[in-house]
Amino acid sequence: MSNKLKAGVIGSGLGGLAAAIRLQSSGYQTTVFEKRDKPGGRAYVYKDNGFTFDAGPTVITAPHCLEELFELSGRKLSDYVELIPVEPFYRLMWEDGYVFDYGSSLDETMEQIKEKSPRDVVGYKKFLDYSEKVFNEGYTKLVHVPFLNWWSMIRVSPQLAKLSAHRSVYTQVSKFIEDPHLRQAFSFHSLLVGGNPFQTSSIYTLIHFLERKWGVTFPKGGTGALVQGMLKLYHELGGKIELNSEVDKIFEHNGMVNGLITRDGRKFELDFIVSNADVMHTYSNLLGNVAKVEGQRKRLKKMKYSMSLFLIYFGTKKKYPNIAHHTVLFGPRYRELLQDIFDHGTLADDFSLYLHAPTKSDPDLAPEGCEGFYVLAPVPHLGGGKVNWEVEGPKYADRILTYLDERYLPDLKENLITQRIFTPVDFERELNAHLGSAFSLEPVLTQSAFFRTQNRDKDIKGMYFVGAGTHPGAGVPGVVNSAKATVSLIHEDYPSVEQRTDYTF
Ligand SMILES: Cc1cc2nc3c(=O)[nH]c(=O)nc-3n(C[C@H](O)[C@H](O)[C@H](O)COP(=O)(O)OP(=O)(O)OC[C@H]3O[C@@H](n4cnc5c(N)ncnc54)[C@H](O)[C@@H]3O)c2cc1C
Repeated sequence: MSNKLKAGVIGSGLGGLAAAIRLQSSGYQTTVFEKRDKPGGRAYVYKDNGFTFDAGPTVITAPHCLEELFELSGRKLSDYVELIPVEPFYRLMWEDGYVFDYGSSLDETMEQIKEKSPRDVVGYKKFLDYSEKVFNEGYTKLVHVPFLNWWSMIRVSPQLAKLSAHRSVYTQVSKFIEDPHLRQAFSFHSLLVGGNPFQTSSIYTLIHFLERKWGVTFPKGGTGALVQGMLKLYHELGGKIELNSEVDKIFEHNGMVNGLITRDGRKFELDFIVSNADVMHTYSNLLGNVAKVEGQRKRLKKMKYSMSLFLIYFGTKKKYPNIAHHTVLFGPRYRELLQDIFDHGTLADDFSLYLHAPTKSDPDLAPEGCEGFYVLAPVPHLGGGKVNWEVEGPKYADRILTYLDERYLPDLKENLITQRIFTPVDFERELNAHLGSAFSLEPVLTQSAFFRTQNRDKDIKGMYFVGAGTHPGAGVPGVVNSAKATVSLIHEDYPSVEQRTDYTF
């Protein structure tokens, strides 16, 4: 029998898997417990009628943080999954017909800016320079470091002030760039991690430089192939995963984690637990009978949650050459639409969409002669209670498909051969996401770093968190780096991998 410390990871999202790989690589005997039948969390995969649909993340950036997971055990990411460079990074399209292809070539970007708005050429250079500075401070130095106390916040505040972190992404972009289309082109990125560019800290402009530095990639076989590559590594290291195993309760005794019980009644003794499940779900349900975390529950209830998403995964028997791998379709309103989503909680008549066309990079994801897509619309989370998705879902899907048919994908409706939708209610039901939020806590300055859910709980020994609701936040690089921050704390707390014997359920 193994005498190593037993680690449990609740949830197999990319953050959970990254934490599990780090733990197993360090010698702890690790088990991942996953509610669904397949791993990946938001990076789940649907296989419909010969099409492979990645459910969530598709823009894979900062590959170094993934490579690091494999290097921990002397392996190479490229032996497990191939990351294909995507060009352009994004095609941005507006209803007035303007198209901006934003990709790795700085010259081509400058050329397009010059054509659209000559006075913004100098401004863009300044913006890029600013974004690099923010990257150096915000990403390189802080993204993998846990923030556990006020002092950690005070220490970085001079840098944050110098970088105008109190300003929003949009305000900061507007300081450098005047053209309204270009302001949108360089500020929409924070939406990829659930942040409203008009409210999210300008720290998130670092994404712009991060994409320039490492490019935008897509795993051959889809994001699901990345999940499978991580899982293969984890299995080779000796890690275990329990699928179809929703955790019901975490056991705590005398302020210490003891184990957990799954919904189907199986009990597991554990020395420590890393929850990759939604932070509110963990504190309210899994630790629902633990009085000493009541403060955390109250705090999380008061916090702001990010928007939700409405998604349609669809396949066509026709190909659409005008669409790039990643296409953003801006609607007629920008600020006002985001206000409807984030502040008013209403479903607007117009929308801005992200269209994913993975067959542009990997034709094997659809049957011969066909094309697979997903289209995503940011929508309010369930907190406002203003939308009945059972009723609105199919109608909203029809509106979006009609819009695409009329403007961007001619004859779409008659060429559709498969289709499924995913609504905010599905985020809540399938993923236990509080209010059906797609990105957990909203990434605003007052909910970042020390103010976010701590990577280590301060009241229960052996209770840790990883994933979108913790520092640094949502997005693939975010959650993979959160695993680094969390496991560094576990190393501090459990320097030896020796097992204890006094579990009390
Ligand atoms: C549609 C969409 C598109 C996105 N696009 C991008 C992108 O292009 N690039 C990018 O970088 N980011 C993107 N993101 C954000 C990114 O996908 C997420 O921030 C990230 O994947 C979340 O990972 P996580 O580790 O927090 O875990 P999650 O993916 O949230 O997984 C949590 C897991 O916990 C499980 N779970 C919950 N409760 C329990 C329980 N009680 N017991 C057992 N298991 C439980 C869930 O089933 C789930 O598998 C996108 C997100 C969405 C939704």
